[in-house]
Amino acid sequence: MYLSPEQSRQLLEQAAREHFAVLAVNADSPAAIVDCLEAAKAVDAPVIIESSLWQLSSHSFGNGDALLGIERFAAIVELYANSGPYIDVPVLYHTDHIKGPQTVDILSKGICAVNAQGLTASTISLDSSELSADENIALINELCSIAKNNNASLTLEMEAGVDDGLTSLDEARYLLEAVEENNPGYLALWAPGVGTRHGFSAEGFPEFSTEHISRQQALAAEITGRDIGLALHGSSGLSDEQLSDAVDAGVTKVNWSTDSLAARSAAALSYYDMNREKLQRTHTDFKNTAMDNGLQTAVSESYIDRVKNRMLVLKGNGKGQAFCNTHGTNADCLN
Ligand SMILES: [Zn+2]
Repeated sequence: MYLSPEQSRQLLEQAAREHFAVLAVNADSPAAIVDCLEAAKAVDAPVIIESSLWQLSSHSFGNGDALLGIERFAAIVELYANSGPYIDVPVLYHTDHIKGPQTVDILSKGICAVNAQGLTASTISLDSSELSADENIALINELCSIAKNNNASLTLEMEAGVDDGLTSLDEARYLLEAVEENNPGYLALWAPGVGTRHGFSAEGFPEFSTEHISRQQALAAEITGRDIGLALHGSSGLSDEQLSDAVDAGVTKVNWSTDSLAARSAAALSYYDMNREKLQRTHTDFKNTAMDNGLQTAVSESYIDRVKNRMLVLKGNGKGQAFCNTHGTNADCLN
């Protein structure tokens, strides 16, 4: 069940109240999207499928055109999410790490409509890594104005320096108050730096602090007056125990990209390596081995278990079908 911005807000508030987190996978191909939905269905968990700028422009989606990419990406997620097998799985489509000159154009489509059917993204964020605090605030407030002017609902994640160590509470207050005072009610996720970084880290993340997560979550809740959780970026270097502790401390969304890519590419490498002989055109199994189905089925066999395990660590299992039953039918989710 593809969630509207309003349904997404309800799910994220439930996660904050009940102390679970939704896994957010940077799924970079239709096959990866299917695998994530299969995993979510198997453990009855909600799932966020997210795309960064590089995925929107990638071969499988925009093929060089990010504006076309968001239309195709969102439509594929919605098509799968609202089809029979996954109708009881809460599925959010999130825009992750959008930056550069097309940021407002891409996100405007996500907020207002990506296609003639009025489909919107479930939740929106932008990449603030190259922005000053005031530029970050101005862009977030601009997105809120776009939503207001178009009578669109909008559920936002705001980030600040996620790769730059621990975000100070003063900076957090400055950013969150500037948005909440001008545009109350839009923020549903807060992504400060909590000591992690994107990509692999050989030495782990010594700065990672669940106490800092707790303080940031409490501050965000105080400023907004809502059940608001943290989005955790750069989770690939954390142990299961650290992730579980982060959820207890107030994380409600965990982004997952590097480890996910590593799992899929390692499985693909192994598949091609083990099937070298069958990939000769004269082999009787050539066609079955060479077709995309052969590779993707092999990748899914190990990948789906990895996704399921991560969802269990985040304690989102058992929350899927109940949410769908309580928060509307399929027809309600389409804007
Ligand atoms: Zn990130």
